Formats: sequence, C-alpha cells, structure tokens
Amino acid sequence: MNPRLILLGPPGAGKGTQAVKIAEFFKIPHISTGDMMRAELASSSALGVELKRYIDAGELVPDNVVLSVVEQRLGAADCQSGFLLDGFPRTLLQAEGLKSILDKKKESLTAVINLRVADQLVVERIVKRGIASGRSDDTPEIIQKRLDVFQAQTAPLIEYYSSAGQLVEVDGVGEVAEVFNRILGALEKE
Ligand code: AMP
Repeated sequence: MNPRLILLGPPGAGKGTQAVKIAEFFKIPHISTGDMMRAELASSSALGVELKRYIDAGELVPDNVVLSVVEQRLGAADCQSGFLLDGFPRTLLQAEGLKSILDKKKESLTAVINLRVADQLVVERIVKRGIASGRSDDTPEIIQKRLDVFQAQTAPLIEYYSSAGQLVEVDGVGEVAEVFNRILGALEKE
C-alpha cells in the first residue's frame, strides 16, 4: 500500500504528533507545510521575511506560495511510495490545486483523516505547547485567531472531502497511542 494521505484538523488537534507516527508506520514522508514555512522563516530568505508577518499574525500564507512549495515537494522521489500531508490543504483553493497536481501525476488521494477535537481542549493544548516550543504564534490571542481562520477557511474542506467520499472521521481526544490506533482502524476500513 502506498497511501496518499491528508491529516486535517484544527490547530492543536494533535496532527503533528499523529503525523509522525502515521508516517513511520507506512514508511512515507511526513510533509508539514507549517514546518516548511518555519524553515523558510529561519533561513531569513527574502521569502522567509515576507512569510513572517502572516505566521506571526496567525494568518494563512498566500495559496500560491504554499502550492508551489508543495508541488515541488511532491515531485521528489520519496513521495512515490506515498505521503502524508499535515497542515495542507488549508483552503478550498489549495485543495483544488492539490487535485490538479495529483491529476497531472495520474494519482489520487487514499484518504483524508479528519481529527476531531473540541475548541476548548485545543486552546488548552496549544497554550501548553507554546510554553514548551517557544513558537511565536502559540500565544492565546494568536491561537484564537488561528482557530477563527480554521473555521472560516479550512473547515469547509471537511464537507469538500466528505462529498468526494474521501473523508475518514477520527475522534482526536485521548492518549496518543489510543488515537493512533483509531486512525489505523479507520484507514483499514477504507
Ligand atoms: P502549522 O504549524 O501547520 O499550524 O502552521 C503554522 C503557520 O504556517 C500557519 O498559521 C500559517 O501561517 C502557515 N501555514 C502552514 N501551512 C499553511 C497552509 N497550508 N496554507 C497557508 N498557510 C500555512
């Protein structure tokens, strides 16, 4: 099985943690657009400087920037055995862009995992993570902004992938291992 997967869910749902485990299990690359954006920012490139204001404000980086980064990454040899996208797509335009990238390669998605966690829990989790990670966008105001952005721009993807028959719903509340087993169980049924 060469699964081509998306991990969808609000900030703080535990996507990063689960993504590492899923990628290890299937031996596929874990592609986190958030990590890629932060790496660009850390390199202090001209693009990095431009991205900083979006990331620090909790806003989305423009679709064309993210899409070109993802298209390049998906073209790498290691993605032929499948991939796991974490934090992408985040808008309908990105989802359409991904579809056309995959269409060109005559590939399609295996499943879109929707990790469900209540807003209240998500805020608590990110505040804790912010203390540990030192991420500049893990402050209470920016977290709220990121949740609002998720509701407005990313939540419509749940309906989009559900209509396409590709959505797999997973309860994201519980121990890491427990949630991981739920994900594997849900994927097996696919
Ligand atoms: P994350 O680590 O996935 O929460 O991403 C951190 C930040 O990077 C987001 O708040 C956005 O500013 C930016 N970012 C990451 N992925 C995307 C994406 N797919 N589209 C737009 N912006 C993104």
